[in-house]
Parts: sequence; structure tokens; C-alpha cells
Amino acid sequence: MGKNLLEKVWESHAVRELPTGQTQLFIGLHLIHEVTSPQAFEALRERGLRVRRPDRTFATVDHIVPTHTHARPFEDGLAEQMMSAIERNCREFGVPLFGLGDRRQGVVHVVGPELGLTQPGMTIACGDSHTSTHGAFGAIAFGIGTSQVRDVLATQCLAMDRLRVRRVCVGGALGPGVYAKDVILAIIRRLGVKGGVGFAYEFAGEVIERLAMEERMTICNMSIEGGARVGYINPDETTFEYLRGRPFAPGGAVGSDRDRARWDSAVAWWRTRASDAGARYDDEVTFDGGAIRPHVTWGINPGQSVDVGEALPDAASVAADERASVVEALEFMDFRGGARIAGTRIDVAFIGSCTNGRISDLREAARVARGRRVASHVKALVVPGSQAVRAAAEAEGLDEVFRAAGFDWRGAGCSMCLAMNPDKLVGRQVCASSSNRNFKGRQGSPTGRTLLMSPAMVAAAAVAGEVIDVREFLAEPAAV
Ligand code: SF4
Repeated sequence: MGKNLLEKVWESHAVRELPTGQTQLFIGLHLIHEVTSPQAFEALRERGLRVRRPDRTFATVDHIVPTHTHARPFEDGLAEQMMSAIERNCREFGVPLFGLGDRRQGVVHVVGPELGLTQPGMTIACGDSHTSTHGAFGAIAFGIGTSQVRDVLATQCLAMDRLRVRRVCVGGALGPGVYAKDVILAIIRRLGVKGGVGFAYEFAGEVIERLAMEERMTICNMSIEGGARVGYINPDETTFEYLRGRPFAPGGAVGSDRDRARWDSAVAWWRTRASDAGARYDDEVTFDGGAIRPHVTWGINPGQSVDVGEALPDAASVAADERASVVEALEFMDFRGGARIAGTRIDVAFIGSCTNGRISDLREAARVARGRRVASHVKALVVPGSQAVRAAAEAEGLDEVFRAAGFDWRGAGCSMCLAMNPDKLVGRQVCASSSNRNFKGRQGSPTGRTLLMSPAMVAAAAVAGEVIDVREFLAEPAAV
């Protein structure tokens, strides 16, 4: 019987089986940021330890970075302390830091792939839940807590429970105006926010195979929102083409014969990491990509979503075990069961985050914004996922498109995804957001309300001033 990718990567990184039943796994790449690393470095200091593999550890700053200005010191004293701490720690422990002012700075899950640090067949760890993003390259990538960040810094290993593998197959073809974000929201809606607990999700099928790497990252990024610690996609030509020539990819710019040989040998190895035909899975589910429509969340977890044209559920129409959470969500959001999500007035539109802050996301949002104006009552901002995304967007003139439409054009950071920085909702504001979590309080106001959707849908909502089906805009060119 053939093996799936998770089995292959697990076996090739297993140091030993522990008496607890867990596996001690070697971690190929450790990405760190300013929020979950200070206590971990402090723990190393207390024990007189060094970073075991600084050559496999890379740091950036993202969560607390203000996006309207990168000027130091930050107004927020705690943010300034965290920034100073990561700068000091990286200097002292010899870890490369993509800090403010570095054109490689950005959200950790945007920066790793775009620099070519993220590669097929790797084990990757980072102190952030959405580390699953890197699985888009055929890596096994875990979000970890601060004590595990300490462990990886000190040993380059993690003690992990083995995961089962569910193959999530999305067949057919997506219609116009339907994006990777809609696919993953549809998957989480059906399988549930806890449906993936104990599983790694292997995403497959014609729809997934046709997605560009950036869209694959959106899918894997939100695996964790479906309860799956890990999500991955088998590496293929699309993966290799994306990586070719990136600074940390094998062979770098692939200029010399020696570089080419290194690149060819890496690709040959990466091909062997993909799941074998006939691999065994613990579970398999299928989705019809052609039936997926633009999705919008209406509740307080990412599984509570509907097609933009659909009515919201009411307490009477759902299973008994879901009733309490539906009632709680409708009440918090101030929605009525049976009403439509389309037409919901919004106050804020946020395009960005490690889910949807990449260049292809900005291109799709700009297609909608071009020649149109943000509604007068809406505050709209576009926050590129990295400084490289920002530079690429500016080279294409996308910043001008957004500015002309009335969006704020910002520097790279997590911004309103988590609001550990000045970008926050106020009071009961409703935000159309391209981020990944709609939990109560996630965007900085305990009573603020988040509607998750694709970046193109956010741009459409910003212009209409309310939730609207983006396909109406894509069908009708703007009056420029
Ligand atoms: S953009 Fe959001 S989910 Fe991604 S790393 Fe930042 S805070 Fe975490």
C-alpha cells in the first residue's frame, strides 16, 4: 500500500518514539515573531541555553506593527517593548530578523513562502495558529504555543501526537467570482469547526490542483479553523514554479550550472514526497466545486457561513446540538434567522491578513475597486501581507486604484486581523473582512462584528456599503 505525504514527512523527521506515545520530530524550519517569542528566549537565558539551529530559525515582526506608520518608538509602550525584545533576542542568539525597514518584513506566513524558506517535504513550526498555511507547499506545518517555541529554539524538535489524515477532495471547476476563500468556508461549514480535530487535511481534486500557490495558501491557512492542526496539498509543477529563483530556494536565482543541479535535485526529491497513488487515508470527503458560491460568515465562528444569496438559519431549523450556538451568534450579531446576509450594512472593510493579503488577493480586490468609490459611511483599508507584496502592488499601480476609490493604503502587518495594533473596530461596528476569524472581540472591540469573505467580496461591500454578491460587479464594468 502506498503512503500519503503526512506519513512520509513524519517518518523522515522522526527522531524517536517517546514513552508518552508521541513522536519526537525534527523541525526543518522555525519561524518566529514578536508576540510568542519573548518568554521563550527568556527561558533559554534562564537555563543558559543557545538556539540549537539558528540557521533554521527566521524572525519577522507583524502582529503589533502599526500599519499607518512604522516610525519608532511606537505610541503603544507594550508594542515598543515587544519590538525591542525581538531585536535584542535575535541579535544575542544569532537569529536572522526581517525587521522594520527591511523589505522582507511582513506577516510571518506571507514572508516564509515568498522568500522560498517554505519548501515541500519540510516540517515547519511557528508560534501562530495559522502556520498551517505552509502546508500549501506539501510541508507539514504546526502552529505551536510559547512553551513549544522554547522547546524548538532549544532542541529544534517537537513532541507531537501522530495525526490521522482526511482527504478533502474538491472536484469540478469554480465559477466566476468564487475564490479559494469561498471553498474553505464551504468546507468548514460542512465539516464543522471541530470536524478536523485529530486530523491533517489533505486537500485534493481538480479545483485544488488548478489553484495558484497563493490560493492554495488561503485554503491551508484556514484548515485550523476547521479543527485540523495541519492542512496540506501535494507538491506539483505549480509549487515548483512558484519556488524557482526565490532567495532561499535551493540554487537561489538558479544562475549557474551548480545552482541548476541543486534545483533539479531538490525538485526530484520533492516529487517523491507527494502522496502515492493508492495511498491510505483515514477518511475521505468530496465537494463539488461547481456548486460553491461566494460565502459570507454570519456568526461568531468561521463555520457559521452562508452563500451570499442564502437565508440565515434560525434556531428551529438546525440540529439540537447546534441550537444554542446559533441563538448566541444571531443575538450577538443582531441578525434574525431567515433574513438574508446580502444587504447587511457595513462600517469597515478590511483587506489583508495571512489568509488574503497576497498580491493575487489585491489584484482581485482592485478589479472590483477600479473606477468605483467606497461608500461614504465606510472606512476601508488595504494592508499588504508583506513589504514585498506592497512593492509588487505599487509597481502594478494597484495602490493608485485603491487610493482613488477611497481605500487607505497601508504598510505590511497583521492589522485588523487580530487588532494587537492601532487598527481596531470601535463599538458595534460591522466589518467586512478578508481575515480568518470572526470570534467575539477578535478585531479589537468586544462588541464588534466580523463578516468573513473573499477580498473581492470585501471590495464589493466597501463600494456598495453593504454585503453584496461580487459577481454583480464583475459582470458590470465600472463607469471610469
Ligand atoms: S494575519 Fe492574523 S492570523 Fe495571520 S499571523 Fe497575523 S494575526 Fe495571525
